[in-house]
Amino acid sequence: MAGKSTRQEQFLKLQQDFRTNAFEIIRQMVDWCNTTPGSRHLVDEILHSIFFLGKINTTPFTPEEIIPNKEMLNALKEKYPEPFECYLTHLPRRSPFSCVLDMVVLQKRPENENQVKQTLSDLVNRLKEGFLVSATICISKSNKSVQQYGVSMSTSGPNPGRIVIAASCLSSYWDEYVAAAVMTFYPDKKKKEYFDGTFKLAEGATCRAYSIKKASEMEPCKSCGNLFGFQETCQREWPWPYGNCAEVESLSNLFKNDDQVKQQSRPQSDTFTPENREKVRDETLENLKKILKMIQFKTWSGKFYVPE
Ligand SMILES: [Zn+2]
Repeated sequence: MAGKSTRQEQFLKLQQDFRTNAFEIIRQMVDWCNTTPGSRHLVDEILHSIFFLGKINTTPFTPEEIIPNKEMLNALKEKYPEPFECYLTHLPRRSPFSCVLDMVVLQKRPENENQVKQTLSDLVNRLKEGFLVSATICISKSNKSVQQYGVSMSTSGPNPGRIVIAASCLSSYWDEYVAAAVMTFYPDKKKKEYFDGTFKLAEGATCRAYSIKKASEMEPCKSCGNLFGFQETCQREWPWPYGNCAEVESLSNLFKNDDQVKQQSRPQSDTFTPENREKVRDETLENLKKILKMIQFKTWSGKFYVPE
């Protein structure tokens, strides 16, 4: 019995890292917002996604528990009322670290790749492991576009990841082709028989991933090979669902900024028809609802959170 309770205590103690990281990330984002014009929406959005992930965390945390400092809590409520009002009814379109990434890219400018990486690495090295932190950053580029960034999902556990991946697909946060590729394997890594939205990234466009902590380049995983036609992938098959990797967000941003590369990367399968695309979206929505039901999140209005 004693051993069991110790394990339980350790588990609860570890779960507190969610709160520690959440508070530190929010504090840092508010700080950066004060010196970065045009970044208010990023604080708004990250508050919402952190509150949502706090609610569905294995040990749930309320906004009041995440921000124990009363003065700061009231100031945030006043300045950003909507995340507090909407985190139980709206799903986030992306995971929190994507907002951190956007903030840093806005601050450092997209062409300063090393500064962007360094700033993120400094932050991640100050945080605890395992909660609300992305492991990888990806940078895509084409002749016509500056660096386009993406980070891996900063969710923990299979259900939060699957929820945000579906939301990124269904809310049009991810580009339609990128979303189609991901939904081809949603939610369980099994390829759909009736639909293939995978594609081969156009020649001339590059896509490289790095560990945020170590700044070292990483080979794409097998999943990304299957999604985007990368030839050289590492042999490892990660346990995460398709859509977890930094490549996904980065390529999505590239397609939004370079339509030519996007059109050259169009999925080629005969099954990529309007009817099947509709069907795969419906199926993804059904799966999303199933997961929400399973974790007893009963208050979704069907809407996604878009900050003002
Ligand atoms: Zn990958």
